[in-house]
Amino acid sequence: MAIFKDKLYLDTSKRMEILDITLEVQKIIDESSIFNGVINVYSKHSTSAIVVNENETGLLKDFENILNEIVPENNGYKHDISDNNADSHLRSLFLGSSETIPFSDKKLDMGTWQSVFFVELDGPRKRGVELTLIGE
Ligand code: ZN
Repeated sequence: MAIFKDKLYLDTSKRMEILDITLEVQKIIDESSIFNGVINVYSKHSTSAIVVNENETGLLKDFENILNEIVPENNGYKHDISDNNADSHLRSLFLGSSETIPFSDKKLDMGTWQSVFFVELDGPRKRGVELTLIGE
């Protein structure tokens, strides 16, 4: 059993942005000495999220629209009094800050239509994503 850790740095360019980081996550697996196991992709920010879903242009727009519908901006949130980004925190609450994905023979073991996304909810800014591989 071995553990390998690495970090991914992202520069986001919009307030809400859904970035496909599948290739970057796969690259970390390539660079590790672990062949089979799981990789945890963890965002160290409370106004972003990590999700697994399909990378289809229309669907990504649908994600943004539904997040805006479920958690509208400037909705009288208490956190907006001290820090004007309650909507970003609340959207993150529904999506979660990490995903754990299996890999086999050094390849992410995901479905054909699945990708790993970093979801920016209060950009643009610099972001760090922690990657922890556990396996052998
Ligand atoms: Zn805040």
